[in-house]
Amino acid sequence: MRIDLHTHSSVSDGTDTPAELVRRAQVAGLDVVGLTDHDTFDGLDEAAAEGDRVGVQVVRGMELSCSREGNSVHLLAYGADPDSPDLAAEMARVRDGRLGRLAGVLAKLAALGVPVSEAEVMAQVGDSPSVGRPHIADALIKAGHVVDRQEAFDRFLADGGPAHVPRYTIELERGIDLIHRAGGLAVIAHPWGRGREQLLPPNVLQALVGDHGLDGIEVDHQDHGAEVRRELRRLAESLGVLATGSSDYHGTGKLDHDLGCNTTDPEVFYEMQRRLAHRESSTAQQSSATEL
Ligand code: AMP
Ligand code: ZN
Ligand code: FE
Ligand code: FE
Repeated sequence: MRIDLHTHSSVSDGTDTPAELVRRAQVAGLDVVGLTDHDTFDGLDEAAAEGDRVGVQVVRGMELSCSREGNSVHLLAYGADPDSPDLAAEMARVRDGRLGRLAGVLAKLAALGVPVSEAEVMAQVGDSPSVGRPHIADALIKAGHVVDRQEAFDRFLADGGPAHVPRYTIELERGIDLIHRAGGLAVIAHPWGRGREQLLPPNVLQALVGDHGLDGIEVDHQDHGAEVRRELRRLAESLGVLATGSSDYHGTGKLDHDLGCNTTDPEVFYEMQRRLAHRESSTAQQSSATEL
């Protein structure tokens, strides 16, 4: 059984529509695919319907923009209720912040001699409710300023880069709590990717598990080398949390992240399903208690 639990569609900054992504998952030999667009649940119904059609199980996910001490941390939510009011409100605030920072980024790019207009970026965004730096990168490519998304990040858009503008994100602990209150599981995406070892050392992860019930950490991810994966796997085991794996597929947006290039152990996936089923029944008990 092949399971890939973290992918993006054109509903955020991937390039396949949700249905296309699920069809590709089927062709890639995946049995289970998690759709985890940035700060939106909008692609899930389409993906699930296509999954039913082609025989791929779709896990309902989302990647929430959080931060710790001002640095970005991505939190994967699995099985969270899209209608949970507090989570939905915070996600809307994050999406507003994505749009709100655009003018600032474009002003910096113009000053750096690589101008693109808001209309050029919005043409790349299309119908996505979640405007991401990869869309800005795509506008830079279209304008002939860079050759690919990676060059756009390396030269201009990366965290702390010359055209980077911070945006609203959710405090990590609060993000975990919001996901739990929405009945979901919270898993930190690529915790030690791109220099985050300092930001999320073992004692911090331990406190997140102890104080907030963090459910898991993503271990097998492109941004982690072999040694980091070994250490994180050991850590997940000692903390008693789920160790997941994924491609973080973005379609043609990131050519080196093919669907299924990293996968999640079936035993870990079954445990996720058990925990979700348990959460559902306890949430149902809570709400029937409130009704009484
Ligand atoms: P945003 O949602 O606007 O914060 O942009 C985050 C997206 O950009 C994610 O899909 C990341 O994979 C991608 N990204 C972030 N940092 C980099 C980087 N340094 N190089 C390439 N892609 C990046
Ligand atoms: Zn992305
Ligand atoms: Fe991420
Ligand atoms: Fe991602």
